[in-house]
Amino acid sequence: MKIDTIRHSLAHIMAYAVQEMYPGTHFGIGPAIENGFYYDFTLPSEASGEGGTFAPEDLPKIEKKMKELIKQNLEFKKKTVSKKEAKKIFKDQPYKLELLSEIESPKVSIYESGKFVDLCKGPHLKLTKEIPTDAFKLTKIAGAYWRGNEKNPMLQRIYGIGFRTKKELEAHLLKEQEAEKRDHRVLGQKLELFLMDEEVGSGLPLWLPKGAVMCRLIENYLYKELTAQGYYWVVTPHIAKLDLWKTSGHWDLYRENMYSPIKIDEEEYMLKPMNCPFHVKIYQSKIRSYKDLPLKLAELGTVYRYEKSGVLHGLTRVRGFTQDDAHIICEPNQLSEEVTKLLKSGLKMLKTFGFKDYEIYLSTRPEKYAGTLKSWEKATNSLKYVLNKLKLKYQTDPGGGVFYGPKIDIKIKDSLGRPWQCTTIQIDFNLPERFKMTYIDKKGKKQEPMMIHRALLGSIERFIGVLLEHYAGSLPLWLAPVQIWVIPVGARHEKYASQVAKELAEVNLRVEVKNENETVSKKIREGEIQKIPYLLVVGDKEIKAKSVRVRSKNKDLGIMKINKFLKKCSR
Ligand SMILES: [Zn+2]
Ligand SMILES: [Zn+2]
Repeated sequence: MKIDTIRHSLAHIMAYAVQEMYPGTHFGIGPAIENGFYYDFTLPSEASGEGGTFAPEDLPKIEKKMKELIKQNLEFKKKTVSKKEAKKIFKDQPYKLELLSEIESPKVSIYESGKFVDLCKGPHLKLTKEIPTDAFKLTKIAGAYWRGNEKNPMLQRIYGIGFRTKKELEAHLLKEQEAEKRDHRVLGQKLELFLMDEEVGSGLPLWLPKGAVMCRLIENYLYKELTAQGYYWVVTPHIAKLDLWKTSGHWDLYRENMYSPIKIDEEEYMLKPMNCPFHVKIYQSKIRSYKDLPLKLAELGTVYRYEKSGVLHGLTRVRGFTQDDAHIICEPNQLSEEVTKLLKSGLKMLKTFGFKDYEIYLSTRPEKYAGTLKSWEKATNSLKYVLNKLKLKYQTDPGGGVFYGPKIDIKIKDSLGRPWQCTTIQIDFNLPERFKMTYIDKKGKKQEPMMIHRALLGSIERFIGVLLEHYAGSLPLWLAPVQIWVIPVGARHEKYASQVAKELAEVNLRVEVKNENETVSKKIREGEIQKIPYLLVVGDKEIKAKSVRVRSKNKDLGIMKINKFLKKCSR
C-alpha cells in the first residue's frame, strides 16, 4: 500500500469529521502531500458572513472524531456516476460544482465513506481499518486561496501528517521541532540579519547591517574565486526595453514569471527576470574570435520574478534576488571541458560552505524545445560524459530540461537531510541563435558559439537562508557577521578590552566591545543567543597575564594568550 494512499484517505476522513462536527461546511480539495495531507474548508458560519474560523484547540477534537470514524471500519466505496448525477450530489458544494464544470468526460468517479461523499479520482484504501490510528496528527491551520489564486475566496486549510507507524510519526515530529528551531525567518530576526516589511512588499527582503556583512562576505569570496578562474565581472541594469525580451524569447516563453511593463518616454520596459540578454550584448560589443573563447562573464545580478504570494517563504522564495550568475560562451568542442570545470568548482564551493552531501540531476529534452534533435543529443551526451568521467553519481530527470537545452542541477542536503536546489549548469541553443551570436573560427569562418548559463550558489538570499538553517544560526567563523565580543568584567577593565579589540581588528577580525552596564553573565547569555562564535571575558587576572578568557559554543575554553587565540581564529 502506497503511503500517499493512506495520506489521501486520511484527508477524506478529516473532511468527514469536519462535516459531522460542522454541518454545512463547504469543501475544497484534499490531496496527499509530502509527509501528510490537507483539506480546504469554508465553515458554515464563515460562508454566512458570521466569521468563525478553526482555532488550534479544534484540531485535537477533529483528530478524536477521525479516530472514532476510522474505528467504525468504513469502506471507501468508489462509484462512477454521470456528471448530471454528480451535480445533484454536490448541489450544496460550490467548489465541487466548479471542479465538475471543468471535467470534460461525461462520467466522474466519487468516493463514499459513511455519510461523506467526495469527487475524487482515487485511489483509496478499501477500509478505514487499514489506517493506523496512532501514526497521524493534525498540525496546523492556514489560510489558502481557492486554487491558489488571490482573486478567489480564502479557505481554511487544515494540515495533517501521517505515517505507517507511531515510531515514524514521532521521528518526524522530532525533526520538525529541530527544523523549527532552525527556521531562518526566526533566526534572521533574532540575529538581526534581515527584515520583511509589509509596506515594502512581500518577498522583498531588506538586509540589516549584519545581514549585509554576510552578503558581502559571500560576494567577496565569489569575487576572489571566480576572478582566479578567469571570469570577467560585468554590471548590468535592472530594467530593459520590452524589445530585448522579445528577441531573447522571454516575453513568449517566460512571461508568467515576469512583471508588467513600465512606461518610460512612451516606450515599454521590463524588470529583468534574468541577466542573460545583457551578457549577450556585452559579448557582441566587439568581434570575437576563437582566441577569445571561452569567454566567461560573471555578475551578481539582481533579478525579479513573479511568485504567487502563497509560496513566498523568508529568503528561500522571494520576488527579487541576486543570482551568482555567469555565462560561458565557448566553441562547441570546448563544451565538456567547461562543464567539467564548472562541476568541479561548484562542488568545491559547496564544500567550502560546509555542505558535504548532495544529489546530482541530469535533466533531458522536454516536449517543447528549441534547437535541433542532433544538438540536444550531442549536448546531453557531453554532460553524461563529464558526469561519468568525474565518477559522479547522478539521477536522470527525463524531459526535465529547460526549453533551450539540457542541464545539470546539484541539490545540497543540509544537516537535517533536507534537499535544497543550488548549483545549476544549463546549456543554451536558443540565445546564440536568437541574437545571432558569432565568432571567427581558426579558418576565418563565422560560427555560432555555445552558451552555458550557470549559478553555483543559486541566489545569495536563498543560500543565506539555507546556511542559517544548516548551521542553526551558529555560522562558521569566516561567515559570522560579528565574530568576537570582548566583555570587560567591570568598568576598570574597559580600557584593556578596547586594546584587545583593536589588536583583533587589526588582523581583520570583526569584533565588538560590550561596555553596556550589565552583568557579565547577562552579556555572555546574550552573546550565546546572538550565536557570536567567540566571547572573550577580561578582568584583573586576564590583564595581568596579557590574555583573555575564551568562551565558544556555550563552553569555557579557559584563559589564553592573545597570540594563541589569534592562531585559533586563523585555523
Ligand atoms: Zn479521494
Ligand atoms: Zn542566463
